[in-house]
Amino acid sequence: MGDFELPQSLHLALRGVRSVGVITGAGISAESGIPTYRGKGGIYDDPQEGDRTIEALSAHTLAADPDRTWRALFQIAGAAVAALPNEGHAAIAKIEDTADRFVLLTQNVDGLHRLAGSRNVIDIHGDAFEVICTVCGKANQFNDPRTGAMAPQRLDMQACMAAGKAPRCPCGGVYRPAVVLFGEMLPEDKIARLYAELLDSPPDLVISVGTSAMFPYIVQPMLVAASAGKLTIEINPEPTEISDFVAFHIKAKAGQALPAIAAALTDQHPEH
Ligand code: NAD
Ligand code: ZN
Repeated sequence: MGDFELPQSLHLALRGVRSVGVITGAGISAESGIPTYRGKGGIYDDPQEGDRTIEALSAHTLAADPDRTWRALFQIAGAAVAALPNEGHAAIAKIEDTADRFVLLTQNVDGLHRLAGSRNVIDIHGDAFEVICTVCGKANQFNDPRTGAMAPQRLDMQACMAAGKAPRCPCGGVYRPAVVLFGEMLPEDKIARLYAELLDSPPDLVISVGTSAMFPYIVQPMLVAASAGKLTIEINPEPTEISDFVAFHIKAKAGQALPAIAAALTDQHPEH
């Protein structure tokens, strides 16, 4: 981390920042070994599944062929079960410690932000370690060796992956992942929090990191912050739809740029 320099103009712009919103996507977990969808090395590069991943992870496929949905999900969840937070996740948790007000909106389902110590998290797409029976509605979880949350009635990710099939509830029903699949509605309570914490009164600084920014509810908080005169930063090695209007587009990896931003914010709040 140490050798990454922020532009001097960004150092100046970070002065006086008290409230911070961070929006993350799959790219922040790339350095933890979890494949992204898009971008270099993403799941879309997979010669077998390719850009059919979206189809596999849809409500329609879950109903017609749940084994296929789960095989696609195992690419993310199977990597997540063995993954640890990286310096980018840690820097976001540090920023939360220094800010007077902080919110993290993540599209990720890998649980790594909470493992890194983030507290005020809106996991808008859910959690890949949680499942719900499509027949009886009972919830269950995968064992999580990262947190030590293990119990006999929980599911074992490795065993399910080896079977290559949708896991099943004791009632015989297929479990679905507690994640928002393509073609499904976002949870209303999380949308309400997104509005309250990011749109109604945008934070002084909003950072978008590691997302291809394909969804309107990801682009909108950045747009609203920018048009309210707040500081906006994008961290992504590649350009996206939001690159054109953010104040700073840092073309670097999350694990390089975020620790530098966290350090700059911490330096001006020595009391923390
Ligand atoms: P995406 O895969 O569409 O885009 C990833 C972005 O991250 C790309 O723009 C890429 O250039 C950038 N990137 C790659 N490495 C990076 C790095 N080291 N630092 C910073 N940026 C980097 O991801 P998305 O926008 O989050 O949308 C994909 C959807 O897939 C989301 O809905 C998410 O729920 C799901 N998903 C989640 C995970 C996860 O939980 N880790 C992984 C894959 C997909
Ligand atoms: Zn059941």
